[in-house]
Amino acid sequence: MLKIFSAGNILDAYLVQSLLAEAGIETQIFNEFAQGGTGEIPFTQAYPEIWLINENDLSDAKKIIASFEQRPHETGTSVCKNCDEPNPDTFEVCWRCGTVLHTPSHG
Ligand SMILES: [Zn+2]
Repeated sequence: MLKIFSAGNILDAYLVQSLLAEAGIETQIFNEFAQGGTGEIPFTQAYPEIWLINENDLSDAKKIIASFEQRPHETGTSVCKNCDEPNPDTFEVCWRCGTVLHTPSHG
């Protein structure tokens, strides 16, 4: 077996594994339960790892992982109610028209 990917979190690991599975590539996740569990905190933080069952799949697996890593990172966006312009979630007012994006919730 061959380690092909170290995921930042278990959701990424599952996502990559499912992408590989769609391509008919068998993998095994290690450290699946290393994070978010109860009990002792490991001395060194272990990230979920994806290991390739069949090393012949390596080149295909690498392509799939490369495209996974190149996807745009999902950041929250707030769409302006006034002009429908998407704004980064961190913006408080629309960069385009100045409308307040986040209405304070009452209660
Ligand atoms: Zn706007």
